[in-house]
Amino acid sequence: MKLHEFQAKEMFAAYGIPTQKGLVIEDPAQVTRLSLKYPVVLKAQVLVGGRGKAGGIKLAATPDEARVRAAAILGMDIKGERVRRLLVAEAVDIGAEYYLAFIIDRTARRLTAIASAAGGIDIEEVARTSPEKITRQTVHPFVGFHAYHARKLGRSLGLTGTLLSDFGAVAGALSKLCIAEDAELAEINPLAVVGGRLLAVDAKVIIDDNAVFRHPALPPNEELTELERLARGAGLAYVELDGDIAVIGNGAGLVMSTLDVVAHFGGHPANFLDVGGGASTENMRQALAIVVRKPGVRALFINIFGGITRCDDIARGIVATPPPVGMVVRLVGTNEVEGRKILEAAGISAYRDPQEAAQAVVVLAASPSGQVGRVRK
Ligand code: GDP
Ligand code: MN
Repeated sequence: MKLHEFQAKEMFAAYGIPTQKGLVIEDPAQVTRLSLKYPVVLKAQVLVGGRGKAGGIKLAATPDEARVRAAAILGMDIKGERVRRLLVAEAVDIGAEYYLAFIIDRTARRLTAIASAAGGIDIEEVARTSPEKITRQTVHPFVGFHAYHARKLGRSLGLTGTLLSDFGAVAGALSKLCIAEDAELAEINPLAVVGGRLLAVDAKVIIDDNAVFRHPALPPNEELTELERLARGAGLAYVELDGDIAVIGNGAGLVMSTLDVVAHFGGHPANFLDVGGGASTENMRQALAIVVRKPGVRALFINIFGGITRCDDIARGIVATPPPVGMVVRLVGTNEVEGRKILEAAGISAYRDPQEAAQAVVVLAASPSGQVGRVRK
């Protein structure tokens, strides 16, 4: 679960990591009532990166300017997220910008510190173009992250004196935060030099979803898309991806392998929805209505292996909800004959072989209209 910058900074403060003085507002009129020293910086609180580049971060020298700018940022759309809150902080003069993060390295299966003297900007870009500017240090679970690790990391950035000892304190605190709060990422970019000291100008924390239950004080931040909300309301497991083929299957294992088969034949799933074991006609109707609403969907793949789920129930759901895009159905298992009859009466012929079906849907998605052969075998 992602935390907003202001929430991550509250957490930073609890661990002794220095941040700017700031307050959160939801209405532009509130900005002039804050007791903050000018200039201030106004920061859109959305759960996406690169807010600065997207125009979500502005400086203001006077209360009037702050009000105008606050009105411009609140309500703005940043990468699909509407700005509902602003963090207003006392602006600082930024010298050098460093990058520091702790992240779970899934390959090493360890917490890893990542640091760079090329902070402030897009770290992925630095990693791609000049990986030598990035230092990594995995944290051994039995040894832990100690002051000497922090100093080694700090020296690799060229830090000395006060900045090096500040860096040690910040890195030590950030590693503690990560472990105690079950963070899978805690990032400071930029960790900036302000008046000869280090200050966390930005903050990003992601809590491991599997550990959220251990932290009842965390805010309820989960931001679902409209379709995710609909699916959740209907009790269906739905996940969004960025391709153009909508996928419905019954059972997590079948759905995962369906994604793999589609990818194997060069297709790109747009999303996937697991109607689950024993799915009813109504589940299928809802599932169909949800997956095809995602913008960019060009074809639909329904892969059903009837066990507890009955193919006739599924078929009734399919014919009751004709999709607006071309569809390929694969149907085998319990009550298959009845299911096929229902589909055929509606002019739909279903595949038995999942690979043939996957190939067909990939072709369908790639065809110019995406509509050709709405229901073909
Ligand atoms: P991001 O774009 O979402 O990563 O947001 P950041 O909080 O990292 O801010 C982006 C950039 O805005 C920073 O790299 C700084 O250059 C600038 N910025 C943020 N806060 C301040 C501030 O208090 N003073 C100044 N001068 N610049 C700031
Ligand atoms: Mn940043």
